[in-house]
Amino acid sequence: MKYLYLLGYPLGHSISPAMQNAALRERKIRATRYVKNPMPPEKMREMILALRAPHCLGANVTVPHKQAIMPHLDELTDLAREIGAVNTILKRADANGIAKLVGDNTDAYGFLQALRVRKIRPQNACVAIIGAGGAAAAAAYALAQEGAREIILLNRTLARSVELADRLNRRFPALALAINDWDALERMHLIINATSVGMAPKPDESPLPAKYTIPRSAVVFDLVYNPPATKFLREAQARGARVIGGLEMLVYQGARAFELWTGQRAPVRVMRDAASKVLQDMQTLFARELAPSQVKR
Ligand code: NAP
Repeated sequence: MKYLYLLGYPLGHSISPAMQNAALRERKIRATRYVKNPMPPEKMREMILALRAPHCLGANVTVPHKQAIMPHLDELTDLAREIGAVNTILKRADANGIAKLVGDNTDAYGFLQALRVRKIRPQNACVAIIGAGGAAAAAAYALAQEGAREIILLNRTLARSVELADRLNRRFPALALAINDWDALERMHLIINATSVGMAPKPDESPLPAKYTIPRSAVVFDLVYNPPATKFLREAQARGARVIGGLEMLVYQGARAFELWTGQRAPVRVMRDAASKVLQDMQTLFARELAPSQVKR
């Protein structure tokens, strides 16, 4: 049996195993499974050993390892280095046939593809990104690469937005950049939540401070996919804005990783159906978990 790992901690109810295993079945890639491999940060050595084992074909990496794992890999793609985060690990043989661990990033592709399928073009767009972590960096690089005109980074920790803005500025000198200018929201074409605020189990939170509102003309993209309709998206929709949830990005980043690992075209529809099904089951489970405390009140 060969394995593709999901490395992170904790991994809870992740959607990726159902999505990737459905793709492996659809493409008849037998004796290969995508499995959760929960590893806390102090187990980095074990994580690298697991990746180097011959039965491991590659991996996805999620919180909290996306940045921490980078110095332990043999190579990074230019994209992963520029974004500063790895979410996919490939195994590539060198000239001597020795497998090397290559860190890549498919979040940027997944993000752009979710816009493309809705015919939303980032060229010349003014974009606000709430957050400055790995997902925000992937979105910012993708947008800058596609010719966005302006990016405003809005993050709780100022130092992190400054660091990301510096990197973007060095790589894309023509891009207009600002930090923590919430008042600029009203003239933004695209507003993105790249924080974990609003994610289950705290679906009643929004990353938008109460004194600001979303302009009706904006497209609002929440990278959070669980729940599918976050408070941020529900409020934006109520204001008349066009909204996009995080599921499509999740499916496309996974599809890209699948193609890199297997060399086969990803069955995107099968992956989306599997991901939606797990998400639905999780909503039911979540509602049931909430029920007892609601009864007590
Ligand atoms: P990360 O690197 O850990 O960054 C987390 C971000 O959330 C930081 O900007 C952090 O701000 C902010 N944040 C966390 N708690 C906050 C709070 N209570 N108030 C304000 N800001 C808060 O994580 P990531 O990988 O970028 O992921 C961010 C989100 O994107 C997650 O919800 C993840 O599930 C989602 N995501 C979705 C996809 C997809 O395919 N749809 C792909 C990747 C990520 P500080 O800097 O101040 O800590």
